[in-house]
Amino acid sequence: MDIEKIRQNLKTAWLGKDIRYFAEVDSTNTVAKTLAEQGVKEGTVVIAETQTSGKGRLGRRWESPKGGIWLSIILKPELKVKELVKLNLLASVAVAKIIREEFRLKAEVKWPNDVLINWRKVCGILAEAVTKRDRAKHVIVGIGINANFDQTALPENLRATATSLKEILRREIDREFFICNLLKGFEFYYENFRKGKVSLILSEWKKLSCILNRRVQLSCCGEKIEGIAHDIDENGWLIIKLRNGTVKKIFSADATLRVER
Ligand code: ADP
Repeated sequence: MDIEKIRQNLKTAWLGKDIRYFAEVDSTNTVAKTLAEQGVKEGTVVIAETQTSGKGRLGRRWESPKGGIWLSIILKPELKVKELVKLNLLASVAVAKIIREEFRLKAEVKWPNDVLINWRKVCGILAEAVTKRDRAKHVIVGIGINANFDQTALPENLRATATSLKEILRREIDREFFICNLLKGFEFYYENFRKGKVSLILSEWKKLSCILNRRVQLSCCGEKIEGIAHDIDENGWLIIKLRNGTVKKIFSADATLRVER
């Protein structure tokens, strides 16, 4: 990755003005957390060529072979922990929009934290908060994009559910250019978020969503719930209509969602 090229082409006001680049890390989120504790500025971005222990939610592993885009953004928002999912939604909207605009591919967002193309995951997002009581001291938004590697770089058990931009486009993408656009888009939505204009993000998310009005199964706190994904609320929580007509709101942190196509 040519970090100098990113620095020269980045058109953001503050995001990514400080980029920390590594050939290999355990997880960019972990490195970002340490840097945040050391007091680096909001908007610092950690980028790595590969992660040895990339993280998904609930302690799951995120595969991060060379050629991908593995980055974490350090933020210091005024945020209650229960609002964290909004940053997942914001990041997934930013990623899906760039993929649509740049490559004319129909990228869709899946609650709470994925971007899919043809129902296969091309990007995963992990927003984590370092908290003080119920408020976030810093938030780390990790974004992992399957960019320039073949599907064979992923373990066999993921090949049916995962894809990469290279596989779909049959060519490599300009990762530096993509990162510049992604940071610009993320900054735009984050500024809206900071000004309290969450409805813009939520309405964009709904337009890009592949789950609304579909039958879904949720595993949540040891329980299985089935119903229709009806909407998301102002905090980004998922609203599900159960068969018996009752409505349930689901917080993302401990929920895993499967969608019927
Ligand atoms: P889920 O999407 O299943 O709710 P997460 O959002 O926590 O779970 O993402 C982690 C999961 O994503 C892993 O358990 C694995 O199934 C899948 N996965 C791991 N690495 C990749 C990757 N690079 N691309 C696509 N899917 C991946």
